[in-house]
Amino acid sequence: AAGRTPLIAGNWKMNLNHQEAVVLVQKLAWTLSDKRHDFAAVEVAVFPPFTDIRSVQTLVDGDKMRITYGAQNVSTHESGAYTGEVSASMLAKLGCSYVIVGHSERREHYGETDAIVAQKAKIALKHKITPIVCVGEGLEIRQAGDHLEHCTGQTEASLAGLTDAEVAEVVIAYEPVWAIGTGETATAQDAQEVCAGIRERLEKLYGAEVAGGVRILYGGSVKPNNVAALMQEGDVDGALVGGASLSVEDFAAISRYY
Ligand code: PEP
Repeated sequence: AAGRTPLIAGNWKMNLNHQEAVVLVQKLAWTLSDKRHDFAAVEVAVFPPFTDIRSVQTLVDGDKMRITYGAQNVSTHESGAYTGEVSASMLAKLGCSYVIVGHSERREHYGETDAIVAQKAKIALKHKITPIVCVGEGLEIRQAGDHLEHCTGQTEASLAGLTDAEVAEVVIAYEPVWAIGTGETATAQDAQEVCAGIRERLEKLYGAEVAGGVRILYGGSVKPNNVAALMQEGDVDGALVGGASLSVEDFAAISRYY
């Protein structure tokens, strides 16, 4: 909406080995070129596990594909004695355009707080990688009617310490936890309500120009049959897709929602 290039992002989570990753990206590129996908109109990005990123890079570079890619997580540290971690500079070297930070699975299973998410966003930006900052409420919060307050508060806290110019670069993803991997999708109106609320909060904190430029995605059981309605909403600027991004047919259809 309003001058913001829509982004369809596929989060593969902990699935596929590097050979399967190559096959999926190749098939996706073929399918989208068959359908004459307009990459300038709708950006398409994939988020493989760390171990597949190098293979995706080789393919995308070699075939001059217009698919972009990123990582699902990043360390808060620059380098050093952090066994098992992967740094932003390593991801930058692999050509990552994006990194997902604060996915609800990382918040839930790995204790990622808003403060950690903000540090990850900051270090990604330092290395010219766009963070996709995820926020979203659980079922109890939704049922209590506190979702708007929860998500706007989480957005504010997850961007703490970023400058206005840095915030202008981020992507936000609104992902209600009760809709992730459950087949339960928020209605387009529900998605719009929260995405608009987030943009309003951004405007209050960073001004209209920054808020008007930030892309806000919806995520949570996005499928070929519900994407178009979601994308018609004025403050929904794309989709973060989990399960359906592992199917070439479904992910291509979602990317070609227009
Ligand atoms: C996700 O994990 O980002 C997600 C939206 O998953 P799904 O599409 O499977 O609900």
